[in-house]
Parts: sequence; structure tokens; C-alpha cells
Amino acid sequence: MAAPGPPIGILAELTHRCPLQCPYCSNPVALLKANTELSTETWVDVFTQAADLGVLQVHMSGGEPTLRRDLEELVRTLSERRVYTNLITAGVNLSLERLSKLKEAGLDHVQLSVQGTTAEVTELIGKHKNGFAEKMQTAKHVRALGLPLTVNAPIHRHNIHQVADFIELALSLDADRLEIANVQYYGWAYLNRAALLPALKDVERQVEIVENARERLKGVLNIDFVTPDYYADYPKPCMGGWAQDAFVIVPDGKVLPCHAAQTITGLRFDRVVEKPLAEIWEASAAFEKYRGFEWMTEPCKSCPRRELDRGGCRCQAFAVTGDAAQTDPACILSPHHDKLRNVAETASANTPDAFSYRRI
Ligand code: SF4
Ligand code: SF4
Repeated sequence: MAAPGPPIGILAELTHRCPLQCPYCSNPVALLKANTELSTETWVDVFTQAADLGVLQVHMSGGEPTLRRDLEELVRTLSERRVYTNLITAGVNLSLERLSKLKEAGLDHVQLSVQGTTAEVTELIGKHKNGFAEKMQTAKHVRALGLPLTVNAPIHRHNIHQVADFIELALSLDADRLEIANVQYYGWAYLNRAALLPALKDVERQVEIVENARERLKGVLNIDFVTPDYYADYPKPCMGGWAQDAFVIVPDGKVLPCHAAQTITGLRFDRVVEKPLAEIWEASAAFEKYRGFEWMTEPCKSCPRRELDRGGCRCQAFAVTGDAAQTDPACILSPHHDKLRNVAETASANTPDAFSYRRI
């Protein structure tokens, strides 16, 4: 099936290097080393092609994108072509001076990940000494520069009791948006699944807190809620649908339909150094494989909800059933649905395993 139109967004994973070691990281367990990363010239060329292709926004991510010394040049390349730039950062080792330079280069928005609302939880997860204080300082710098701020709070068993505090924290930091994002289990998060999955009662309490806050803070704080797949009845339309309006470029230049697509064995990914971006968007074999609806099996194939959720996540279907064309097991209509719920209930009832911290 042909591409439905030009892509809207790109998640650009500029590097896998990161000063933090979060066990919930969605990066692959086999992390790419610095010597495999694309050069500045290649990224500039790719972003120029992206602008020509009609891309409206680029999310600069990683790993930690500020570890790339050329970040200002990459932001400027996009900004000069009127592409909206969002920096997704862990917010440590990030000075006011560096942020000012990024703003001068045209940076539009900062998304700051916060692992906990206390130093203790933040350091337990990120393994970065003084991480919480540094993140708070970064948030203040972002707002002092007049840049819009999103606080991103990945939620799991070890911080689900802090959801109400995350809301207060986002308000105190003058954030525009808070993303309460229940961890999605790919990469390192999948490896640490048994240590991270929360209990149903805590998930239910969290939903109540978020719903009340959304009502109470209308017009004050925008709260996005990424619901937990393992206790869901229906799946989310991952990335808005496979190769529908966005894609991911990883540090070595492979172009993926979603950040976890490399976990599906047998897919072949094109690289930006081998083909023009437009050709990859239109005809990449990996993009074509699950684009549209032709590939679907039952019960998705004849389901009235298929345009809403596009059958959910291919990576989760592959991880749980061994076949990426199956219905996402987060769906109550999947014959594998109970597997997710059972894994979550068993894991959350047991003493959590020790973390395997993310390391290159
Ligand atoms: S999740 Fe943690 S370890 Fe992974 S890239 Fe983000 S800050 Fe770094
Ligand atoms: S059967 Fe497929 S299309 Fe229908 S709700 Fe479930 S995942 Fe969505």
C-alpha cells in the first residue's frame, strides 16, 4: 500500500549514549556505540530532506541528545526550514548557557523526563547522583528562557504512588504539559518487566487521580495519559498506525516505523545513507509490511474498531504471540489477552526482581 501522504513527525534518536541508566528505557538492549552514529553532515542532509518531504515536527531524542555537540547545528537546520523542534532530555549536565544556545538556534520546546518526585526515587531509577536537583534546575532554566516545558513521568511499580505529586510538581515548575506515561514494555523495559509492572489496585487509583486532576486543572495544565497496556481492554494506535504519519531514525541511520520495530525479527530496515528519505517513506519493505489494513488477521480484519486503533502494537503482538500480524494482546478480543494480565498480576504480587540497569 502506498504512503497515505507526507509524514508529519520524526523521532530522531541522535545517540544511544545517556548519563542515566533507567531500567524502563525503551532503547534496545543491544545499544549502539558512539562510533556507529551518523555524522553531522548526514543528519543535516536527512533533516533537509525531511523538511522537503513536508515533515512538520522533529523530536530530538536518544539516549541523551544533548550529548551530541552538534545539536545546535541540527536544530538550526530544522528551524531555518520552519520545522518544529522538540528536545527530549533527561535534563542532567545541561547548563543554562547550553540551553540558551539551543534556543538561539531555534529550539521550540523541551520535554524533560523526571523519574520520581523525590531525590531517592529519581536516583533509584536513573542511577545518577544528584539527578533530581539537576532536573529541577533544568526545568527552571527552560522556563526562564521562555521555552514551553513538558514534564514526562514514566510510571511503574516504584513511582506509581507519586502520581499526585507529579501533578503538583508539574504545576510548581510552570510546565505547560504533563505526560503521565505508563511504561511500555520494549527493550530494557521488557527485560525488567517483572520488576516494573504495578498492581491493578495502584493502576486504578492512578486513573482516578489523573481523571480528577484533568477536570480540576482544565486550562491550567494539560495532562496526557498513556494508559497501561497490561491492564487495558483495548490497545492504543501505536505511532498513530504503522507508517501512517511518523517514523523513527535510530543513531546508525536505520529508519523504523516505530522505536521498537527492530524487536520484530525478519523485518528489513532501510538506512538514510543508502536511499533518499522520500523513497524510504514511500516504499520501505518494513513500512509496507503492516501499513493499512491488508495484513490484518481476525479478529482485527473484520472489527469495527480497526480504524480507531489499527490493531494496536505490532511489537507487542510479536513479543507475546511470536507473530507481528496477530491482534495486539492488550485487546480483550485477542485469544492471548489473558497472558498480559497474568504476567502483570503475578509480577506485582511478588517481591520485585533486582533491576538490570541500562548500560552501553
Ligand atoms: S529512559 Fe533513561 S536511560 Fe533511557 S534514554 Fe531516557 S533518560 Fe536515558
Ligand atoms: S480486534 Fe483488533 S481492531 Fe478490534 S479492538 Fe481489538 S485490536 Fe482493535
